[in-house]
Amino acid sequence: VKHIGVLNLQGAVSEHITMLNSINNVQTTLVKRPEQLTKLDGLIIPGGESTTISRLIKQNGLVEPIKQFAKQGKGILGTCAGLVLCGNSTTHNEVELLGLMDICVERNGFGRQINSFETTLEIPTIGKQIPAIFIRAPYIAKAGQTVEQLAFVGKRCIMAQQGNILVCAFHPELSKDNRIMCYFVDRC
Ligand code: GLN
Repeated sequence: VKHIGVLNLQGAVSEHITMLNSINNVQTTLVKRPEQLTKLDGLIIPGGESTTISRLIKQNGLVEPIKQFAKQGKGILGTCAGLVLCGNSTTHNEVELLGLMDICVERNGFGRQINSFETTLEIPTIGKQIPAIFIRAPYIAKAGQTVEQLAFVGKRCIMAQQGNILVCAFHPELSKDNRIMCYFVDRC
């Protein structure tokens, strides 16, 4: 059994829990306090508003505990705002990041005209025709050499992994396709 937590501060939390519950041998926890991390194999940092989630992570004393969790090699999945928070730097400095992955993130990178859109992706080692829902999504503007860039929309990188950290700019939990979630759980 894999024990996966979803950071329960703001944003699309329950959708992740619902999708995790569709996978066999997964136990879930809503995470608000540092001590809850100790029993987990993996943690999801959901989409929402990265400025708000960042502030609440700090208020709840979770900055160092999450960094430690990542250092221990436990799995982390950051989706949308969660991707922003996993980054090293953003083009907008108002968000304090966790710096778990060597990426520079462009927040709201797809601009106004296409605030939200849906497409399908082919992701090596995961599969084809994977639905991807983008909502005021970021993209990865720069990535370090050991970051594996997994998927693109046009020339923009929108999914990547580095060791135990996996990030996507879209919301896998809002589709009915749980392949990305299964991939994450397997790696935890
Ligand atoms: N634009 C949001 C941010 O940067 C992310 C949007 C989302 O998570 N759907 O905080």
